[in-house]
Amino acid sequence: MLNFAFKNRTEILFGKDQINEIASRVPSEGKVMFLYGGGSIKKNGVYDDVVNALKGVDFVEFSGVEPNPTYETLSKAVELVKEQNVSFILAVGGGSVIDGAKYVAAAAKYEGDGWDILVNGAEVKSALPIGAVLTLPATGSESNGNSVVTRKETQQKRAFGTPIVQPQFAVLDPQYTFSLPTRQISNGVVDAFVHVIEQYLTYPVNAPLQDRFAEGILSTLIEQGPKALENPEDYDVRANVMWSATMALNGLIGQGVPQDWSTHMIGHELTALYNLDHAVTLAIVLPPLMFVQQEQKRAKIIQLGERVFGLNMEDKNELIDATIKHTQDFFEQMGIKTKLGDYDLGEEAVEAVGNNLERNGMTALGEHGDIDVAKAKKILSLAL
Ligand code: NAP
Ligand code: FE
Repeated sequence: MLNFAFKNRTEILFGKDQINEIASRVPSEGKVMFLYGGGSIKKNGVYDDVVNALKGVDFVEFSGVEPNPTYETLSKAVELVKEQNVSFILAVGGGSVIDGAKYVAAAAKYEGDGWDILVNGAEVKSALPIGAVLTLPATGSESNGNSVVTRKETQQKRAFGTPIVQPQFAVLDPQYTFSLPTRQISNGVVDAFVHVIEQYLTYPVNAPLQDRFAEGILSTLIEQGPKALENPEDYDVRANVMWSATMALNGLIGQGVPQDWSTHMIGHELTALYNLDHAVTLAIVLPPLMFVQQEQKRAKIIQLGERVFGLNMEDKNELIDATIKHTQDFFEQMGIKTKLGDYDLGEEAVEAVGNNLERNGMTALGEHGDIDVAKAKKILSLAL
């Protein structure tokens, strides 16, 4: 096991009606920004719950944070924060709104253009404090310090991460997920699944507890994901999916083990160029990536097949093929198509992603840094 320092500062408020807990956690002095997306919270009652919980708090709203939040929109929120002297941000929505809040919180305190934080590695020295109310279990953004922002103008999707922007608290009420469209439940389960894979499917470092945490989350998602599609209002199913997605990327399972993240990095370029849903890009990239990296990942692919998919085969090469097939079938079972052609993309997309990876310096991806642009293109070619 590798060395690590681990601290997760987010207080999780999990379960029915936990929204009422925010009253004592949002500062009563100063001004709060209530940040949200395209309006789903107005249809499912979450907006009213938040407004009720914020009684007596001085707040200003900023809505319209889009899926794959953009620098262009978030810059307007940064302006409003400065204009109104906002001192706390309450993000209500999915990963996009929470990621957006992190960018706004950091950019508002940064002297200069906040985009520097995403492309030039400008250090985040301070940020406004954030709280989150999660409505879409997927990204883990509610209890991590990561944020992904897209600049429409340049078709770049870039990430930054620092504990400084990690939410102080996160409300996880599974009832808030009942209104999710099927597509977003599918996306959430697949995104969480791939988050675990990025921290698990590398090479063994004698960390059996970390392995079993990861396998526990993967198995739970495989068991509960399809049920979440079949029975949209089953509270316990939604609760287990929600907690799995948080645990998948709150830092715990990634401690002391190598991490990959190449599926995400290649996937980000597909979203930046073609606006595909984040999880869709992961479902396209991961199976061929496992195939191309099967020697480097051999021991862990076998372990995944045996322990998570319950496969038992003498011939380990066959077992590897079957494990890749089971992974792909799970994405399809969750309703996500896994080929570029399913989204009317062909050779041109392989070229364009390659060019974007090159431009963004994403030329040594994966736990060994051995996925260069040529290999990334080979991976995508297998998804044609
Ligand atoms: P999302 O983009 O936040 O939301 C997708 C859609 O779901 C939106 O249209 C949203 O509508 C709707 N929605 C959310 N909650 C709903 C509910 N309860 N009922 C009905 N509709 C609802 O989706 P996401 O998958 O959570 O976030 C994706 C973003 O996170 C991507 O940019 C991705 O790159 C990033 N990401 C971040 C991390 C991280 O660690 N920070 C990890 C992986 C991915 P409204 O706009 O109306 O709310
Ligand atoms: Fe993700």
